[in-house]
Amino acid sequence: MIDQYQRNIDYLRISITDKCNMRCFYCMPENGVNHLEHDKILSPEHIKEIVEAFASLGIKKVRITGGEPLVRNGVIDICRYISAIKGIEELCLTTNGSLLDKYATLLKDSGVKRLNISLDTLDEKKYRLMSRGGDLNKVLNGIKIAQDVGFKDIKINAVLIKGYNDDEVDNLFNFASKNGLKIRFIELMPIGPSKELFKEHYLSTDSIIKSHPQLEFKSFDGVSLTYLDKNTGTEVGFISPLSHSFCGLCSRIRLTADGMIKPCLHSPQEVNIFDLHGEELITAIKEAIYHKPKQHNLNNDGSLSIRDMSKIGG
Ligand code: SAM
Ligand code: SF4
Repeated sequence: MIDQYQRNIDYLRISITDKCNMRCFYCMPENGVNHLEHDKILSPEHIKEIVEAFASLGIKKVRITGGEPLVRNGVIDICRYISAIKGIEELCLTTNGSLLDKYATLLKDSGVKRLNISLDTLDEKKYRLMSRGGDLNKVLNGIKIAQDVGFKDIKINAVLIKGYNDDEVDNLFNFASKNGLKIRFIELMPIGPSKELFKEHYLSTDSIIKSHPQLEFKSFDGVSLTYLDKNTGTEVGFISPLSHSFCGLCSRIRLTADGMIKPCLHSPQEVNIFDLHGEELITAIKEAIYHKPKQHNLNNDGSLSIRDMSKIGG
């Protein structure tokens, strides 16, 4: 469906839970967040109905995210339902990778085509510190299992945080190229716990591009600038919401676990569809897409989103 600024909205991102088994210091407070009660989150069947409605309006690609999507009971049912919906051409999932040992095969069998796996550091101690308790080896093992069960084109997402992992950029490049993975660096966004962190630890992705002359520009898909590492043939992406605004080409719309449509990641605007079905649901989705804001409200002072990243899913 085309919005009022002539953008074709065909990509839906669904946060299926606000729960997570990690506490990444830039994403969640140490003690976690107040979780939504069970009866306040969309059931797998309702998510199916909502995605069917979105698909009838032109959504072709869906990404499942969280919190951590693999801690949600019913994640496999949700994937199975969505991948079977007419019009949905691609179902993807973003995960911290810690539960892929258990879920990789099930995800593959339920129709998930591609995985993005978050990995900010290759240093075991730093990983534990940054994720407040996560186990790097479990994630590395999960990546390997996902490849073994047939996931291709796996993308590693690393949030670039000055003073934490900017010294690991080359290691992450090498890790990706050695293991047949793609890698993307994401600029730290001043949202939730990152509002304060941002002041001292933001680093523009331009600094990486400039200091790596082997990177050759390949494409821009509306969100990610993609380069090819001429030395290794590895694809390296950069998502730069602060240094390069990409709102004019945005094709995304978001749905939260508690049934809110978020037309823009960094806008306070939300549309409640929790109790809607049938024609009412379709009308609400149409309105939400049409009124998607022209550009995001993100600058060095922070995001205008009324919910944190862990309740949106990135
Ligand atoms: N738990 C899953 C994971 O970590 O991949 C999915 C949800 S997580 C919120 C999605 C992505 O958002 C992750 O890649 C995470 O690193 C990123 N993220 C969280 N807070 C961020 C921030 N303040 N700035 C930039 N990216 C952030
Ligand atoms: Fe959890 Fe993902 Fe946020 Fe880390 S980035 S705390 S894994 S939701």
